[in-house]
Amino acid sequence: MRRIAVLGATGSIGGSALDVIARHPERFQVGVLSANQRVDELIALCRRFRPARAIVADPAAHDTLARGLREAGLACEALAGPAALAAAAGDGDCDTVIAGIVGAAGMASTLAAARAGKRLLLANKESVVLAGALLLREANASGAQVIPIDSEHNAIFQCLPMPSAVPGERFGGVRRLLLTASGGPFRGRSRADLAAITPDQACAHPNWVMGRKISVDSATLMNKGLEVIEAHWLFGLPSERIEVVVHPQSIVHSLVDYVDGSVLAQLGQPDMRTALACALAWPERIESGVNALDLAGIGRLDFEPPDRETFPCLDLAYQALALGGSAGAIVNAANEIAVSAFLQGRLRFLDIPALIARTLDRIAVTPADTLDSLLVADAQARAAATLWLDTQGT
Ligand code: NAD
Ligand code: MG
Repeated sequence: MRRIAVLGATGSIGGSALDVIARHPERFQVGVLSANQRVDELIALCRRFRPARAIVADPAAHDTLARGLREAGLACEALAGPAALAAAAGDGDCDTVIAGIVGAAGMASTLAAARAGKRLLLANKESVVLAGALLLREANASGAQVIPIDSEHNAIFQCLPMPSAVPGERFGGVRRLLLTASGGPFRGRSRADLAAITPDQACAHPNWVMGRKISVDSATLMNKGLEVIEAHWLFGLPSERIEVVVHPQSIVHSLVDYVDGSVLAQLGQPDMRTALACALAWPERIESGVNALDLAGIGRLDFEPPDRETFPCLDLAYQALALGGSAGAIVNAANEIAVSAFLQGRLRFLDIPALIARTLDRIAVTPADTLDSLLVADAQARAAATLWLDTQGT
């Protein structure tokens, strides 16, 4: 029986994970559930999954959570705050951690799970972009299994010669990794078309239903940029051997190109339950609730190069990878600030890459060998990006 901590249980990844878990009560038990602020939703999930602990990230919501659990007659411990979250990811109430929190807020718990030698189902790509080298070091030292949940990386994980959960391991015979990108809701548009884009337009992804931050990242192609950096750390290949190809149908989730000319791909419906089921049961296969693929019904699979001029975020991510050190942390932090400002109507869509480029330009890149140095880079980048937003008065 696997005991699972679902961090970010009220989100899109958390919901998909719990859907798969609920299909296999003989295999999986929920040990921990966490949410940011939505206490009522968290309590409803606790009624259904009966975890030993429930954690809310906002300390001010602790008492409401404790009272709600008591009133529901649940013997579930109520905890609050980022430290409780990181502690739960590393302690004995779980052997498997689903890192489903969005943004750098997920980093401490992701690192704690890696340090404690858990099976880490890694959806929180921002923590890899921010602290990939450290995460690898922790996982390799503890023997943690890191299984990617991001659909592209999960596809590559499945297409590698011997799917291995040791992150950063080098594989013989691989020429390139090909990450597929849907192109987002604005594929085929010009920069001029994108001047007046609203948050709801940016979040209307053609193939995937996801949280708002990753949806905006998909619309700017920064999501693919973050995924290039993520692939670099998880699979140990340099950036010139990680390529992006646009595939609007989102059926081929990514490919591995071998030196003998073989290209292996993983196909499936655009539904995160496939990756989650694969990682929860690995190396076995279990039902995920996802329908079988009807290739004749789909009819055709198209591929085209990404439009790097209209969507400069992709190249900003390659630039961060080339710079190394804390550049990933800077780009990630600036992007989080830019996306949040865009969602609040304070920044125009086309100014998202401009704000990231400007921040990367202003903040000195330092070595990324300690958590403290990365947290400093993250804080500096957030402060610089926020200052620019405030002084622009937009
Ligand atoms: P979401 O916004 O739907 O859910 C985010 C979850 O994190 C929620 O449970 C929320 O309560 C929690 N959270 C938010 N801020 C927090 C904080 N400060 N402290 C603690 N918890 C906090 O997001 P999502 O779409 O589920 O994405 C989660 C992660 O998975 C992201 O890193 C995203 O890039 C990655 N991912 C998502 C998908 C997808 O299909 N949704 C696919 C690939 C990767
Ligand atoms: Mg992805």
